[in-house]
Amino acid sequence: AKAKPNGTTTSVCGFCSTGCGLELHLQDGHAVNLTPAVDWPVNLGMACPKGWESLTVLKSNDRATQPLLKGADGKLAPVSWDTAMRAFCDRFKAIQAEHGNDSIAFLSTGQIATEEMFFLGTLAKFGMGMLHGDGNTRQCMATAVVAYKEAFGFDAPPFTYQDFEESDVMVFVGSNLCIAHPIMWERVLRNPHNPKIIVIDPRRTETAVAATHHLPLCPKTDLALLYTIANILIQKGWIDDDYIAKNTTGFDAFKEAIADYTLERGAETCQLDAEGIMAVVEAIHEGKRVSFWWTMGVNQSHQGVRTAQAIINLALMTGNMGRPGTGANSITGQCNAMGSRLYSNTTNLVGGHDFRNPEDREKIAGILDIPVVNIPTENSWSYDRIMEGIRAGEIRGLWVIATNPAHSWIHQKEAHETFDKLDFLVVQDMYHSTETAQRADLVLPAAGWGEKEGTFINSERRIGLHKKVIPAPGEALADFQIFRLAANYWGCGEMFDKWKTPEDVFQSMKKCSSDQPCDITGIRDYRMLDDARGIQWPVKASESTADDWMPEQQRRLFEQDGQYFHADGKAKFIFETPRSPGEQPHDAYPLRLLTGRGTAAQWHTQTKTSKSAVLRTLYSTQLLVDMNPEDATVLKLKPHDEVIVESLRGSVKARVNIVASVQPGHVFLPMHNELTNQLTFPEFDTYSRQPSYKNGAVRVRKL
Ligand code: SF4
Repeated sequence: AKAKPNGTTTSVCGFCSTGCGLELHLQDGHAVNLTPAVDWPVNLGMACPKGWESLTVLKSNDRATQPLLKGADGKLAPVSWDTAMRAFCDRFKAIQAEHGNDSIAFLSTGQIATEEMFFLGTLAKFGMGMLHGDGNTRQCMATAVVAYKEAFGFDAPPFTYQDFEESDVMVFVGSNLCIAHPIMWERVLRNPHNPKIIVIDPRRTETAVAATHHLPLCPKTDLALLYTIANILIQKGWIDDDYIAKNTTGFDAFKEAIADYTLERGAETCQLDAEGIMAVVEAIHEGKRVSFWWTMGVNQSHQGVRTAQAIINLALMTGNMGRPGTGANSITGQCNAMGSRLYSNTTNLVGGHDFRNPEDREKIAGILDIPVVNIPTENSWSYDRIMEGIRAGEIRGLWVIATNPAHSWIHQKEAHETFDKLDFLVVQDMYHSTETAQRADLVLPAAGWGEKEGTFINSERRIGLHKKVIPAPGEALADFQIFRLAANYWGCGEMFDKWKTPEDVFQSMKKCSSDQPCDITGIRDYRMLDDARGIQWPVKASESTADDWMPEQQRRLFEQDGQYFHADGKAKFIFETPRSPGEQPHDAYPLRLLTGRGTAAQWHTQTKTSKSAVLRTLYSTQLLVDMNPEDATVLKLKPHDEVIVESLRGSVKARVNIVASVQPGHVFLPMHNELTNQLTFPEFDTYSRQPSYKNGAVRVRKL
């Protein structure tokens, strides 16, 4: 008989960046089922299928329950934690002694608690002496980070989810919100202002189907389109001169640089109807509260940073910043991408500080009570540079935490060859079955969401608490505990002795955020986070002087005064001439490969979501390639025919899905399938080093 709950507690979902609140129903302190929280300011009583299945995916035969160490026979075999940690530290120390501090590195994640990221980043760099570490957020959010930092002076997304309900025009660029962020989409549908919805996307996605205007542009011409829209707005005088003068710099140079992006040129470059572009320009002009939203179609691009900044430019020049229902708004992907952006100690020194700034290093060393010489004076290498370093023999030991790059990294064959070059690969994960864990020399079994506690920071900068509601299987430990063990076995445990619990780390994180735009010194403790149902940063200590002070649930950063974070307090217009991506379809490979999220029911590499029978039922685990009927006719293909999809880098088998949602000349593959990245073309944004997953040349032939 099913267990009947006799208690309830709340937690935040551990899949996507929406950060939905969940109610966990407990029997004798252990969760037996869940429902969406009705009093959460994020999800208003809703959850998507992944959230509903959060507990199911924890119960799986391929959970890592014991440390596994590769033996002389090349096979992974169970060992004790003592043996595992000795092997880890002995091998990493030997590599470090022979090849220097930059010969060992880590690859982290946006999936673990902020406190765990903070612990990992400080342990690896300040305790173990590593110089390089990066997160899988390089694959999803690096572009937005650089775009905001350059334009605003800090990585500060300005929005709250309430903006979805307050806009009268919403422009989505490279965002299939309907399935990528289904609860945010539900909030769009609740907007009472009958908003105009504009979708800029090469595919007629689920979101595009619901749009007032869909611009199905030629892939990777979005920068030219956004400059065209900006130029027409300027030529017509449909801009906010007062806002531009008071709050920005660089507008005149921007105006001059884009002066020849005429409607005719934009239509030709982007292969769009001029009327369609004009309809969008007019909608932006007529809107009282226009919000601009972007996700991976922009971020995962060879010119992603400049494209994101072109979106920011549109919001600035039309004065659509700092008011309800407005903003240039990057939606994150993972449950804790925002935590990784601020606290992983990779590209930023913790708390949004700068490794290269001596004052910042002194401040953090003082707060953490560590010698300032332990803090590197440069940022980590980016993910792609770490991969390059492995190939060049510069990096020989790698610690991978809660991410699956052997599936998800661009140009998979090269990635596999890269991992095979390592002297020692440590994988810390909930499951021993991931493509990366299968290549490991050592697997450290980790507890997952629900089996440990900590905080996540969602897309609207809301810090939410997730709790331990179920025991981890076997000998699996919380990542927090594994970092404690690693510190002790490495011999730097004393440095981190003050952190007995994740909440102790949270208190250190708070201090590191002081006087930063992301200041959270006003959050007293976990209890306050829980009672408030999550709190958006910033919350300064000066605001919460009363013992019973609670923040308003809806806050925004730029609302009142239009202040940005550059020294002059102004936002910058930043721009650059558009250029073509490095690979275009050609005679031998005539089709353009697009990749992306295929469903609301699966998550990234399906490490967790494939464990749920319900989620598998909602989405085919078979690889389907979406193709336009015109191309299918030319290739004499019928629905579900078996085909080979080939690029210069590899080939995969798939079944044909004939749909009009992709344009003639394009094919679409979901990123969830382990084969898709055999085909992707390794190109990176110049500034963010984010991979450009959504462009490549392929051909399709019938098997
Ligand atoms: Fe979880 Fe995201 Fe689904 Fe909400 S929308 S339930 S946060 S996966």
